[in-house]
Amino acid sequence: MTGLGELPVRDDLRGKTPYGAPQITDVIQLNVNENPYPPPAALVADLQRAIGEAGLALNRYPDRDAVHLRASLAYYLSDRTGVALTGEQLWAANGSNEVLQQVLQAFGGPGRTALGFEPSYSMHPILAAGTGTAWVGVPRLGDFTLTADVAVAAVEQHRPDVVFVTTPNNPTGTVTSLEVIAAICDVAPGMVVVDEAYAEFAAGPSAVTLLECYPRLIVSRTMSKAFALAGARVGYLAASPAVVDAVRLVRLPYHLSAITQVVARIALARVNELLATVELVKAQRDRMVREIAALGLTVVPTDANFMLFGPFDDPAAVWQRLLDQGVLVRDVSSGPGLAGWLRVNAGTKGETTAFLSALGKVSP
Ligand SMILES: *Cc1c(COP(=O)(O)O)cnc(C)c1O
Repeated sequence: MTGLGELPVRDDLRGKTPYGAPQITDVIQLNVNENPYPPPAALVADLQRAIGEAGLALNRYPDRDAVHLRASLAYYLSDRTGVALTGEQLWAANGSNEVLQQVLQAFGGPGRTALGFEPSYSMHPILAAGTGTAWVGVPRLGDFTLTADVAVAAVEQHRPDVVFVTTPNNPTGTVTSLEVIAAICDVAPGMVVVDEAYAEFAAGPSAVTLLECYPRLIVSRTMSKAFALAGARVGYLAASPAVVDAVRLVRLPYHLSAITQVVARIALARVNELLATVELVKAQRDRMVREIAALGLTVVPTDANFMLFGPFDDPAAVWQRLLDQGVLVRDVSSGPGLAGWLRVNAGTKGETTAFLSALGKVSP
């Protein structure tokens, strides 16, 4: 048998490990920021009907440009943000990870640079590596926030082709204000990508409201978190129609299956029911923030559905002792600027209670 090390893989991929949190299913899973509530029964019934109908046409390729889905996404995002958007300003793919990969294929690549403010979403540098884009990680402040001064100085120094700003930021939960994002857009020589995967959990306005002013701004979103559709793999971006034209140069033809497109459209037709769980999740998040702090630990203020807690001398041991009690959280402590921290997402009331009681048994 040939080992990976003996294969002629690209030099820049040698010694790397694939992205991935442990997938353990017979425990309380609070480690990948999913919505803990399954889609409502009425939606599942609609899906069964619609997928059945789509099945009759599976001999045909799907709509290559997902025109109907993009129109539905434009309607949703306009409704949420108050910004008039059309389907030409929207693009969808298999999760926002694929959207971001397409953005880097179009705007990054060999000889080009992407920059992010760390700690942040660890997939951004991995997608950069996969597309041959150089990565610059700029440290956030000690409280994991980002000021215009720090961000503007970094962008002016490195002049990246793509800037990533995640807000609310994963794994810290911290928000970057629109003022800071606008300041970055004012000096960025290339594209600015605002990753708003957790926007539905946040109180503040979306960077979608800045699209009108900044033609090189891209806002990416996902149906994996608040929409409770991680399994469906649907992410999207909003930007100027020219950005969408650029992404269409690199996308694979028929990348979004007919089944995926119909699932997303049916979900968007019942968006209010789907997003009804957001308030429940936020209530448990706020409870976790209070009760973890009451245990004498630090919790980083969060506007997402998860939080950093710690710091621990031996976070791996705390992670294991939680798992031994049947609760799976995320050990992010090996990431840049994250020594000592663990991340946990809000669960149902029962799951949250189980986590808090398990944590009470491991903490000092
Ligand atoms: C979860 C997450 C995503 C979403 O990934 P999908 O591919 O849409 O499931 C994107 N960005 C951030 C920051 C995330 O945490």
